[in-house]
Order: sequence, then C-alpha cells, then structure tokens
Amino acid sequence: MATSRGESGQATNLLGMNREELRAFVATFGERPYRGNQIYRWLYTRGAVSFDVMTDIARAARDRLSHAAVIYGVVPVTSTLSPADGTTKFLFALSDGLHIESVCIPPSTLFDADEERSGDHQPRERLTLCVSTQVGCPLACTFCATGTMGFLRNLTVAEIIDQVLQVRRMTGRRITNIVFMGMGEPLLNYERVMQAADIMTDGLDIAARRITVSTAGWVDGILRMAADRRRNKLAISLHSAVEETRVRLMPVTRRFPLVRLQDAVKHYYAATRLRVTYECIFFDGINDRPEDVRRLIRFARSVPCKINVIPYHSITFTHPEGLAASLRPSSRTDEIVDQLHEANLTVMVRSSAGEDIAAACGQLAVDEPRRRHEGAITHDRTSYPSETTTHDTPPLWASGRGEGNASEVTL
Ligand code: SF4
Repeated sequence: MATSRGESGQATNLLGMNREELRAFVATFGERPYRGNQIYRWLYTRGAVSFDVMTDIARAARDRLSHAAVIYGVVPVTSTLSPADGTTKFLFALSDGLHIESVCIPPSTLFDADEERSGDHQPRERLTLCVSTQVGCPLACTFCATGTMGFLRNLTVAEIIDQVLQVRRMTGRRITNIVFMGMGEPLLNYERVMQAADIMTDGLDIAARRITVSTAGWVDGILRMAADRRRNKLAISLHSAVEETRVRLMPVTRRFPLVRLQDAVKHYYAATRLRVTYECIFFDGINDRPEDVRRLIRFARSVPCKINVIPYHSITFTHPEGLAASLRPSSRTDEIVDQLHEANLTVMVRSSAGEDIAAACGQLAVDEPRRRHEGAITHDRTSYPSETTTHDTPPLWASGRGEGNASEVTL
C-alpha cells in the first residue's frame, strides 16, 4: 500500500490537521474515513504523542502510519512558576531552533472577576492558557517586549495547538480558557489561528466563547472574523482613542487609523452580536489626560463593549529606548476607572499575574541569540512519555503559591 511520504521522503505531520484533513490523509492509505476520526480523537482529546498508543487502530495500519507520518509540535524547555500568584511561564523550542512562550494563568487573577459577574464561571476547574501565534511580532507596540524581537515567523497550527496539549500534559489539568495574547498578532496568522481555535473547541472541548482573540487592531482580520461569523471573543488593544497618541504607542495605527478600527468594530458587532473587549493601559502623561478619557468614552460607546484596564508591566529587561524607555504607569488610573464607570461603561481592572517572572501582559520575549548560544533543542515529540504516563512528581501547577523565588525548571 502506498504511503503518504512525498517525493522528498518527508513524513507528514498529523498534528494540527482537522478532521477533514485527517480523513483525507488516511484515504491515501486506502483506509476508511472513520480512521481519520479515530486519529483525531487520539491526537486532541487524548493527547497521544505516538501511534503505538492508538490501540483501537489495527497494528498493520499503525505501522504504516508510523512510516508515513509524525506527530510533532513544540518541545518544552523550561517552566517558571511565580511564587507570588501561581502563574507559570513555559518556554517551548520549535523544530527550527526558535522559541516561544506560553503562560498558564491561575484562577482568581486575570479572568475570574469578569466571568464571576456574568455567572459564567467554574472557579475550581478554570485554567487559562495565554498562547503565542507568532515568533516575535511585526507590529512593534511601544510597551511590549515581544515587539522588540521583530518578526521571525508565523507559528503552524501544530505549534499553536501543541502549546495547549503540552501544558495539559504537564499540569495534568484540563485547559478551560484560551487567550491568544501571547507572542504575536493573531490576526496576521489568521487561517492557522482559526483552525487551531476550531480544533480546541471540537477536539479539546474548549467552548468557542472561552477562546479570546486579542488584536492590536488589525482591521482586515476583524472584518474577516465578522465575515466568518466567528464565535470566539474579540479583544482589541486600544490604549488610546486619540489618533496621534495611539500612533506613538501602536504604530499599526498608521495603517489602520482609529476611524477604520471603529468602523470595523461596528461591522463586527452587527455581524456577530458579540460584545468586544477593549484593553487599556494608562501611562503617566501619555494617555491619562481628561481629554484622553473623554475620547476613550466616546469611542467605546459606539458598540456594546467592556474595557479591561491592565496594569503597565515594565519591559526594562529589553533595554528600551525613546518613548518606550520613558513609559510609567499613570497615577490617575483609579480616577479614570471611576470616570469610565460613571459613563456607564463596563470596566474590569486586571491584576498583574506573572509580573515577577516576566510573564505578564506585554512581557513575553525570547532572547533568541542567547537561546541559540545555549543550543537549540530538537527532540522528537515521540520520545516523550505517552498520554497515559502519570506524573510521578506533582504537576507544576499543584505546587501553588507561597513565599520564595521564582523557580525555573528544565523540562
Ligand atoms: S502588543 Fe501584541 S501586537 Fe503589539 S507588539 Fe506586542 S505582541 Fe505584537
């Protein structure tokens, strides 16, 4: 029977394929489509890392699969646990030696209060993962460490989905919420991010409404989400509704001015009827003047929305220059929050989860030259324990909070 190795002899990576792709793949072996469904369940629902464990597939078929295909995503390198709040930052290596980070956010920090108010919460089971979508980012927002890396490449579907699978395996816990707020602008990697989101919903049982796509305001992507009637949550890093201020903080505003962003948001709301979230950090003397607040209120009122006020997290470890070096948190944040409340806007003030381990919003960055110096890690995923292996040490997550220093663990 023919295998699916191409002329190059390269095996096909099945991780990241959706049901239809897997069914089409197995058809090239002369297998019935249901085999594709079986593999789908093994990959995502059960987190299989090798064909050996797929025991409801005949041995001969598994052997052919092992010859023609691989299961490969990201390789865990280190995890760093915050003693302050239990946030855990994971560093993953990619097959080309680059690295990305993901952040596991404990309950009662970032997203709890919001869902508590709406009654849509599961305090005991909740586990939120902040997922990366690119290596670096081309948008260079002034306040963001990832932006200082420049853009290296988009992640594949396998690399996006495997962040969730790997963290689920390492923590031994189900991931309930996803935020695409890690490294990169998700809407610049639209097809792969949306395919990963669909697999998360269909294969990992993470409801679409618990998956948030956070954008710097890439209007083309927002319009596409509207056209596709995506049911995921949309969050927009706004920070200022004053054009010249937003240009300074977020250069993407030159390409997509605020008026276009606002039109796109209105269109999105008309198409989906989903409330958008605006994210705002207030910086001393930059976007915290009374006029800034007035313009923000006017902008936010155009569609039903929620405003997340996020504390500023220092990125001095990236040795910023210019405006980035002078950013300080506003002392007027509480006052501004009161004004937003008085304007009848829904406002949530977020905590600084993971700041002590540089895992908070805007702090993700990988020093690639240093990592390269230390040596790229290119382990084959299949050498990792299967999904049936139990952790003989407590999951990192279970080590919880407490006094002490952040602990980096080599995985
Ligand atoms: S905030 Fe988001 S869009 Fe802006 S540079 Fe950072 S990762 Fe890119």
